[in-house]
Amino acid sequence: MAREFCYPTVRESLGDYYEMTWRCAKCGFCRNVFPSDTEHERFGRQCPSGERFRFESYYASGRNELARLTIEGKQGFTDRFRHVLYSCTTCNACEEWCEATQGLYPVKLTMAMRKHFAEQGGELLPEHQKLVKSLRENKNRLNRNNRDRLAWLGEAAKSLPEKADLAFFVGCRSSFRRTEIARSAYELLTKRLGLKVAILTDERCCGRPLLDIGAEQEARELISHNLAQLQKTGASQVVFACAECFHTFRSLAPLGFEVEFESLHLSELLSAKLQQGALGFRPLKKRVAFQDPCHLGRHQGVFEPPRKLLASMAQLELVEMPRNRKNAWCCGAGGGVQDAMESYSQWVASERLQEVKHVAAELLVTACPGCKENLWAKAQESGVQVLDLAELLCQQAEG
Ligand code: SF4
Ligand code: SF4
Repeated sequence: MAREFCYPTVRESLGDYYEMTWRCAKCGFCRNVFPSDTEHERFGRQCPSGERFRFESYYASGRNELARLTIEGKQGFTDRFRHVLYSCTTCNACEEWCEATQGLYPVKLTMAMRKHFAEQGGELLPEHQKLVKSLRENKNRLNRNNRDRLAWLGEAAKSLPEKADLAFFVGCRSSFRRTEIARSAYELLTKRLGLKVAILTDERCCGRPLLDIGAEQEARELISHNLAQLQKTGASQVVFACAECFHTFRSLAPLGFEVEFESLHLSELLSAKLQQGALGFRPLKKRVAFQDPCHLGRHQGVFEPPRKLLASMAQLELVEMPRNRKNAWCCGAGGGVQDAMESYSQWVASERLQEVKHVAAELLVTACPGCKENLWAKAQESGVQVLDLAELLCQQAEG
């Protein structure tokens, strides 16, 4: 049952959280992995921003205090305040435990503070201003010409079905930069499974980068456009290889949008097909670790489908890092951090690579282009291979 005064969503105003700000017990559950969930002190911390900046305001409990002071009109929009506000990767690790133990929602509070900041004239970080400009002018987060969005499909882009029961929402990163993920997902769906798949010819960013920085109104325009286009395809299911896009579409109800189709992450659809016997994979003799993308795992509760797919490959040794599933350490890309705070974002990734080395995995698999991008550079330095789940499955698919 939702609590009346602390069941916030990004639609509501910061003031709605005032009572909640008094309820932070300063218990510290938002900082540490539950002791019974790990035997590794080295990997026992869970808040990237708190661990990187080691100052109270950078933990969920500190942002809680800043929220109260902001509501009371005692906190100005200083540069330090802005840095604290936008250093949260929105990984949701704190909220996972805070909600369970105290019934509070520190990440939703942070999102409401960002919305308040953006709407009350706070000056966005320079990189976030560029992001907004790119999304306004080009409708994608990468400042690319949106007309080139289907270039990865080559000639096949000319003969896409206008209507199909299944649509594939590609996302900005996979459309322009991580095209290997788009190609692999599309091949799995069309060639391996023989499905008829619609792709939007005028797809735009899902809106997540704008929601993350608090620019909700502009995000709404992108969301409305994509929903109208998807509606025209007649699809009853829409599949996503990007965990950020997937999280955005699965979380539209609190924003007041009505969605007439089912949103599925690619791993959910493929694991169902695997169970039905419609899909199989060749053996792979490798020691593999899985990075739970925050938007897929903690935010949407999808932990097992990617693991089932990996475990179905004979000879593949799936090893769990000390922080996995609900306790997974973020890759460092989320919440606008990758866009605006590169060295911190890469520190978060390098912390994860330490864990990959700890379990001696040769291959790190993730299920989001944002995670792949952010982990890539540090993985190269560590001699670890990084692949998206779609790529690996496409390489190993039988038939
Ligand atoms: S877990 Fe929640 S209640 Fe406890 S210190 Fe963190 S924010 Fe406060
Ligand atoms: S969402 Fe992640 S980075 Fe942000 S305060 Fe919570 S644990 Fe820290």
